[in-house]
This record gives sequence, structure tokens and C-alpha cells, in this order.
Amino acid sequence: MARYRDALCRLCRRESEKLFLKGDRCYTDKCAVERRKYPPGQHGQRRRKLSDYALQLREKQKAKETYGVLENQFKRYFYMADKKKGITGSYLLQLLECRLDNVVFRLGFASNRRQARQLVLHGHVTVNGRRVNIPSKLVRQGDVIGLKESSKKNVIIEENIAKMEHRGLPVWLEMDITELKGKILHYPTRDEIQLPVQEQLIVELYSK
Ligand code: SF4
Repeated sequence: MARYRDALCRLCRRESEKLFLKGDRCYTDKCAVERRKYPPGQHGQRRRKLSDYALQLREKQKAKETYGVLENQFKRYFYMADKKKGITGSYLLQLLECRLDNVVFRLGFASNRRQARQLVLHGHVTVNGRRVNIPSKLVRQGDVIGLKESSKKNVIIEENIAKMEHRGLPVWLEMDITELKGKILHYPTRDEIQLPVQEQLIVELYSK
């Protein structure tokens, strides 16, 4: 399946929720969800009662779009989570959070996950001192995520770090602002993942 290249705000409006796909704009009153709180399209303002299946599907789409993951990849994460002992939904979100592009975004090097993906693809990011250009790489506890020496002076990255205040750093990450590197202190628990998704519905969807 091809990567989604249409208007990002449409995805948020579809879910009637802010998915923070655009970075700075999402924190202003220019946000499309703030201005039009109904789904896009001709029939967007119609009231509809969603079936159980539709509710499950919407939760899955929300998680998938937030992390910018394609359907097959998302399914793979689900099966990986399903194999583990414990709560499948929480493991699923933990796997998504541990993607390298997400960690780069969470550390504040990028203003959104799309930009983080670009930074990784273009070779700006290092893991334990080695350059890694795979956005889907799953980072581990204790890994140190940094920037290539020449990328530390990148204007876009500098601006993003300066604006990091309004997002805040998750408790499972540690940031060394002088060295511009972050560490995975521990794997994130469900409480530490700020995501308005009912993961149980996703589990129900894939368990049919
Ligand atoms: Fe979503 Fe951000 Fe667009 Fe608002 S501005 S609709 S949060 S992508």
C-alpha cells in the first residue's frame, strides 16, 4: 500500500481528534480540528451512529496515522505484541513508541514524526554512536540516540529543540541538551504513552 500523501489535517478531522501530525501548527488556533470539528467531505456534518466494527477500525486508523505506519507494518507490530505474555494492546503501543523515528520526535529533534522519519532517512541520526537510516528500527532500553556531528548545527533541528518546551520530554527518555543526545531509560508503560487511543479495540479488531 502506498504512503498517504494527501492533506494531513484531513486525517485528524476524520477522527475528530488532534493527532499532531504537523508540528507547530497543531499547537495554534490554525489547527483544522479547532476550526472545523466535523469529518471532512460532503456528508461530514451528518450524525451517524458507529457500529462496533467502525469504532474498532477508527481506533486502529488513529494509531496507524499517528505513527505514520502502513497497514502491513502495523499488523506485524500487532502479531509481535500478541506473542508476548501480558496485555497485547499495551505492548503494541510500546512497540510503536520504540520506533526510532518516534523517539527522534519525542526527543525534540523533529517537530513531527514525518520530519523525524526524514531526518533518519537522510542519515542525521545515530544510535549508540553509529549512523542508522532505518526509521522503523526498534530502539532498546539503554540505547543512546544522537545526531551526526555535522547535523548538530542543522538550523531546523536547532529550532525544533528550542521549541521543545511546549511538548515536554516523556519520563522514559533522558536528554543531554549540551551533547544533543538522548537515552532510553526504560521501555514506556501505557501510562507514560500520551495517546488518546483505546488499544483494546484494536486488539478486538485483529482478533476476529
Ligand atoms: Fe491535526 Fe495538526 Fe492539522 Fe490540527 S494542525 S488538524 S492537529 S495535523
